[in-house]
Amino acid sequence: MKITFHGAARTVTGSQHLLHINGYRLLLECGLYQGRRQESYERNRNFPFDPAKIEAVILSHAHIDHSGNLPHLVKKGYRGPIYTTHATAHLANIMLLDSGHIHESDAEFVNKRRAKRGEPPIEPLYTLEDAGQVAQYFESVEYDQPFEVLPGVVAHLVDAGHILGSAAVVLDIEKNGRSSRVWFSGDIGRRNLPLIRDPVLPSGADTLIMECTYGDKTHQDPQDSYNELRRVVTKTIARRGKVIIPAFAVGRTQELVYDLHQMIDQGEIPRIPVVVDSPLAVNASDIFRAHPECMDEESLDFLREDVHKSILGYGLVTYTRSVEQSKALNDIEQPMIIISASGMAESGRILHHLRNNIGDARNTVLIVSWQAPYTLGRRLADGETKIKIFGEEFTRRAEVVTIGGFSAPIQATWTLSA
Ligand SMILES: [Zn+2]
Repeated sequence: MKITFHGAARTVTGSQHLLHINGYRLLLECGLYQGRRQESYERNRNFPFDPAKIEAVILSHAHIDHSGNLPHLVKKGYRGPIYTTHATAHLANIMLLDSGHIHESDAEFVNKRRAKRGEPPIEPLYTLEDAGQVAQYFESVEYDQPFEVLPGVVAHLVDAGHILGSAAVVLDIEKNGRSSRVWFSGDIGRRNLPLIRDPVLPSGADTLIMECTYGDKTHQDPQDSYNELRRVVTKTIARRGKVIIPAFAVGRTQELVYDLHQMIDQGEIPRIPVVVDSPLAVNASDIFRAHPECMDEESLDFLREDVHKSILGYGLVTYTRSVEQSKALNDIEQPMIIISASGMAESGRILHHLRNNIGDARNTVLIVSWQAPYTLGRRLADGETKIKIFGEEFTRRAEVVTIGGFSAPIQATWTLSA
């Protein structure tokens, strides 16, 4: 067996690991590289292998740095199965469509500038339509159910505890009467995260490929994050302010909603409006609801007892899709919580909410995940008071609080043995 790491090694994002086994090619992940615009464009456009010559793909979870280049893989000739869990196939579908839309608008933006300089237009990496082509290749499987990926290679997926549907990939390989096991961790979740089950630890692995983005950090206990969130909300309500939270649409948003739902039910905070304002987050929440098979026992117990009969608080939380609903939030003059994307406040509706609320000292901007350098989220987390949004400068008077217990959806990979 030969393994080649294309991306996510000596860097973060762009996971693509090509395994040559028994004369076949198996690709683990097909992530999007996310970095400087030009470099990302080149890297994502040019696969270092021929997509048409790969026999199978296995996807560990739906995050874009693991799944985001699948549309381009198909566009370049891949026609084989993409094995993954049911929930990941669902989630990846909506995330890829969203990503196709973003690539189209990015290309449009760049092309306007290029036109002014008399340069020819560039093509989007892939379009909404290209993204829609991926769904037909998903072959979704149950956790823990073995399936034959290639002759002599049997795989099964186990819980990774990272986001809904996330899995580690276990490959049992037969060659010349000898068997060996490759264990690919995918992104590893923490124990005791809300909603989803804990990660399964590797066993019997001859080769272990694992991510280690936070390998050198001790994570905060989810219970401490819960308590911090409650303190921040209580304090903001006392001064009649709003809590504005930039959050990733998949994963972080649902964890926050579940926490807030519990606080309201248990009378720990008053029942104030909680709004999830991001079309992708709303779609992702629907998919969470459709996959109770991925939830941990605690969440299922909560669901059984819950008067709203919904973990993500349908009937308690307002989910907004339309731009009109989003804009109407500006006119509400009372304490409320707005959770919106993007998670690093680089684009999306969160920018409007920040612009409208950042100047008021009663409000709080709550940072709940790692913020990349040079993003607006990072500048806020660093306590800057002069903030540029849509090219306009604002003075920040709102309090900024960072909760440390939430990790980020990024990944880096190293092999321990081969
Ligand atoms: Zn991830």
